[in-house]
Amino acid sequence: MSDFAAVASPTSTTESFLLGGSKGGGSTGSDVGKRCCGHKHELVGYEALPDFLKHNEFVLDYYRSEWPIKQALLSVFALHNETINIWTHLLGFFVFLALTVCAATMVPMETGVASSGSHLANCTSDPTVLMAYYGTNGTAMAVQAVLRRNVSASVVDTELAAAAALSSSAATHAVTRWPFYAYLCGAMFCLLMSSGCHLLSCHSEHACYVLLRLDYAGITGLIVTSFYPLVYYTFLCDPFHRTLYLAAITVFGAAAVAVSMLPVFEAPQLRWARAALFACMAASGLVPIVHKLLVFGARPEAVLTTGYELAMGAFYLAGVVVYGARVPERWMPGKFDLFGHSHQLFHALVIAGAYTHYQAGLVYLSWRDMDMCL
Ligand SMILES: [Zn+2]
Repeated sequence: MSDFAAVASPTSTTESFLLGGSKGGGSTGSDVGKRCCGHKHELVGYEALPDFLKHNEFVLDYYRSEWPIKQALLSVFALHNETINIWTHLLGFFVFLALTVCAATMVPMETGVASSGSHLANCTSDPTVLMAYYGTNGTAMAVQAVLRRNVSASVVDTELAAAAALSSSAATHAVTRWPFYAYLCGAMFCLLMSSGCHLLSCHSEHACYVLLRLDYAGITGLIVTSFYPLVYYTFLCDPFHRTLYLAAITVFGAAAVAVSMLPVFEAPQLRWARAALFACMAASGLVPIVHKLLVFGARPEAVLTTGYELAMGAFYLAGVVVYGARVPERWMPGKFDLFGHSHQLFHALVIAGAYTHYQAGLVYLSWRDMDMCL
């Protein structure tokens, strides 16, 4: 990444770093040596692109156009206008993979629960979530107490250590984990599909069509599975609303995937329509959240998870606005081709939102581990 950062402008240094060397749509005799299989592995300007690759006229240069699959794959290590888009979500995928492995190994499963608070500390950086030491009733009650009293992290540590010792022999239980892991899988699927789409859709119109559908399916999957921990754990003891909300968002998601299959869905002029569809789907989460506050508004876990959900919504909303408005490149076309254009900011905001929701998921687990239905 330091090599990337050193490349600030399209200079000869930049060009030597770019796969294929030259940029711009021109073809010269020196390009002949870079031909393979009838293709030139050079970066081209916006005007030289086929229509299926013309998505943002404010990003003027450094495009890969109709590259062979092998060269497109290898371009993950080269600098072009999709490099940061690829890596933001590829690294995000590995972060979520690590969080999943961490949760699977540190957070107890439904059976055989034992106190593991010190281990769980490795799965989150948020001291509030660290209160959620899983699976022991005594610890859970201490968690509840410190949440209510809003005491400092050091006091929390002390109380939790004491509570863990007291509760080591307590009867334990844990709520089912599948909604939490469904969300993690949804996030990983979204990030991986997005990264793959940015890496390979330059190959051909057909590849672009298929990969964009997978990308839309990934976004839909992330939104739908984000509902699962929220709805399942909030309405654990209310099967009617739990089933209603889970079914509604799943049907909504399936309908969104079906609509995204239409070729017209990726038309550049429908950018706001796409953003609006996904935003509406996400915004429908307000219904179970408000319902949660009406029923459990006095519970600290409900307030805390709602705070995370609002933060997540703010990240996603900012992402949608940036995605639709195409800023900052709109203000200075060509200046953000490699670094800083709207899609890169959108990706960073998606990861921030997804991570925030992961934190909420940990709180939901701890809540329902200590407070199941009777
Ligand atoms: Zn993207």
